[in-house]
Amino acid sequence: MAAGFGRVSAKPPVEVAVTSFDPNAFVLANDQATPKNILKAAYEAFGELTVSFSGAEDVVLVDLALKVAPKDKVKVFSLDTGRLHAETYEFFERVRNHYDIELDIRFPDQQAVQALTSEKGLFSFYQDGHHECCGIRKVAPLRQRLAGLPVWVTGQRRDQSPGTRSKLQIAERDTAFGSDDQPLYKINPLTHWTSEDVWNYIRSFDVPYNALHEKGYVSIGCAPCTRPILPGQHEREGRWWWEDQGGKECGLHALNLPQAATS
Ligand code: SF4
Repeated sequence: MAAGFGRVSAKPPVEVAVTSFDPNAFVLANDQATPKNILKAAYEAFGELTVSFSGAEDVVLVDLALKVAPKDKVKVFSLDTGRLHAETYEFFERVRNHYDIELDIRFPDQQAVQALTSEKGLFSFYQDGHHECCGIRKVAPLRQRLAGLPVWVTGQRRDQSPGTRSKLQIAERDTAFGSDDQPLYKINPLTHWTSEDVWNYIRSFDVPYNALHEKGYVSIGCAPCTRPILPGQHEREGRWWWEDQGGKECGLHALNLPQAATS
């Protein structure tokens, strides 16, 4: 059992209320572990894994989680912003069928979307930035999905964004979506993996992937806010390219920003 899990049982994993998970101790104990073993330790600590799947190469998390925990203890959710590529919807279905899992797809509040689009149209983010639209279509549904959870698993990597993810840790307390009364922790098993590592895994284990990756897309989000990149460009340059290059986060990982933009 890795150090620092307080009164959490290790083997066999049991469903208990996690009251004293120590992310710093978890990092100390598991920082050099493989993503699979990081997930295994997280499962032993929490007795469940809720995986955030974006419809991109973070599918490796789904693959790995199902190798370390029983299927009924692995919950996979995605956010359907209503603005995704057709290829991403097709990919969701392929992942659902390939792993025979229930994919919990979350949608934005209809009235909030209607108010935004009625007032500002469908492409307001090109004029006044992406945070308002991301706040409605991504952050609010995510907040609803995470409510009451002890832990969630994300596919964040340090190499994805030198500006915002360079200090990412494999485990951290999520103060953006958790609270003192209801602490929430975030496990980032791919923190130290590079894009190359991810793709080596996908190829080695025949993991399904989004067809957009064959069209030059690297970091995949919503259709109007994602574009392919050229050789030599950083993957984050394909996201919200009309905005400043620093601080490219949509609010899902607001902790990465010096001043969180969670609207
Ligand atoms: S990525 Fe673009 S379309 Fe998607 S929620 Fe954010 S601003 Fe809206």
